[in-house]
Amino acid sequence: MTMKPIPPDSVPRGGLKIDRILEPEWLRDRGQERNLGFVPAGPFEIRGELNRVNQELVFAGRLKATVRLACGRCLEDFTIEVSGPLEARWRIVAAPTDRSGRSEEEGPWLEDLETGDLRQGGLDLAEYLLEQVILNIPMAPLCREDCRGICPVCGANRNSGLCQCGGERKESPFKDLKKLIK
Ligand SMILES: [Zn+2]
Ligand SMILES: [Zn+2]
Repeated sequence: MTMKPIPPDSVPRGGLKIDRILEPEWLRDRGQERNLGFVPAGPFEIRGELNRVNQELVFAGRLKATVRLACGRCLEDFTIEVSGPLEARWRIVAAPTDRSGRSEEEGPWLEDLETGDLRQGGLDLAEYLLEQVILNIPMAPLCREDCRGICPVCGANRNSGLCQCGGERKESPFKDLKKLIK
């Protein structure tokens, strides 16, 4: 399912209920154009209410998303759920004009009041949702709180038990390799 941008004029008095789901296939297609650093592992959901207050669109709601990404310590893939409250405001502005005062594109445009981004063609909630998921992904994700990471000597994942080398064996299996590199 795609999500069409919402023209500001279509938001009724009393608000517009938002309850939408983005399927992983659609997200993967959209994400391929960028370096997301994660793979959607389930649908992304956005729920809440969009209101028009004078010259502003105001959204309040929640997001929920499941993504797969690599642990910052052991590099194994794992799945996390990203969820939390969302709040955003966009100002409805006239289309930017060139020096002769002519608009290049038909308005209205929306200015994101947090980022200052200007966009034409209505409120793209799918894009907004994707951006919010990206912002809410931890910088150094851990597969678990006490992830033991990779043994710096032998490269084994230490979560699956003690590695063979004991962590500080003098004869590393890469010892010959190291010689080659030096
Ligand atoms: Zn880990
Ligand atoms: Zn080891």
